[in-house]
Amino acid sequence: HAKKQQYDYIQLFNNQIKQALSTRNKLEEGLKTAIKRDQLTVYFQPQVNSATNEVFAIECLLRWQHPELGSISPDTFIPIAEESGLICEIGDWVMEQALTHVRQWLLSNIFDGTVAVNVSLAQFLNPNYLIGLRNLLSKTLVAANKVEIEVTESLFSNQDADHLAILKELNLIGFPIAIDDFGTGYSSLHRIKMMPVNTIKIDKCFIDNIETDVSDQTIVQAVVNIAKSIGLNVLAEGVETQGQVNKLAEIGCYYCQGYFYAKPQPIDSFPNWLAEFKNKSV
Ligand code: C2E
Ligand code: MG
Ligand code: MG
Ligand code: MG
Repeated sequence: HAKKQQYDYIQLFNNQIKQALSTRNKLEEGLKTAIKRDQLTVYFQPQVNSATNEVFAIECLLRWQHPELGSISPDTFIPIAEESGLICEIGDWVMEQALTHVRQWLLSNIFDGTVAVNVSLAQFLNPNYLIGLRNLLSKTLVAANKVEIEVTESLFSNQDADHLAILKELNLIGFPIAIDDFGTGYSSLHRIKMMPVNTIKIDKCFIDNIETDVSDQTIVQAVVNIAKSIGLNVLAEGVETQGQVNKLAEIGCYYCQGYFYAKPQPIDSFPNWLAEFKNKSV
């Protein structure tokens, strides 16, 4: 009996692995044609200065509507896109979407702020990355200083000279650079001081309990103080309540992004959201 049970467990385990692999393969296969089949779209989430209620930037966030599996989270499919190399094509497509829409909104006097775009490490390693980006700037007529490139901390903990060189070139072209999810990796503010970085985005996990958790308050206060002292902007991610906005203002962090202001908006909804937000603020 024990043997039989053990065998059943192994079978169950095998089946689970098989199923996970087949889901993964299904996603990878699906991603290959997702662009062509119009299954990808971008949303935009506002970044607000809580002191002035100005929407100074919007972050471009990718969405995938799978025909059978429905809406799939970027946290699920971005890693697959990265591992398979598909992120290069997908990332180029996202950048083009971001620049095209921000240009349209600029021309129609809807929004003249910055657009922030997430860029994966794997995209940087593509030797054609910078050429493509320069071409896109000329094609869309967007100024580089209106496009913030968001990278994660792993890019900074990694000693790879190539990454740093590309980051420096991006900065030379005029792109502001933001470190996303700050505090979840291993980069030090000391290293960041030597990098071409403009903004630190403090990860949501430090913001969640900031109203009550003294150690989170202390950490965020320290990051804000140091960031400011070396001339960096700081933004809090995942701000969901007025209480968090108030506490962050006390700490000196006015740039906020999160559901308190708005969820990521579909392209067609953003102009209306912005108009209503401006109305409420006056
Ligand atoms: P991220 O860049 O840190 O983006 C912030 C994530 O937090 C987004 O999730 C956003 O919808 C969510 N968020 C914002 N405010 C709140 C809040 O108040 N509460 C909660 N619970 N969540 C909030 P999303 O859109 O699911 O994206 C997840 C991650 O996927 C992103 O994290 C980013 O790392 C990655 N990602 C998204 N789009 C792209 C892309 O075009 N390229 C690359 N390379 N990565 C992307
Ligand atoms: Mg981001
Ligand atoms: Mg983040
Ligand atoms: Mg994230």
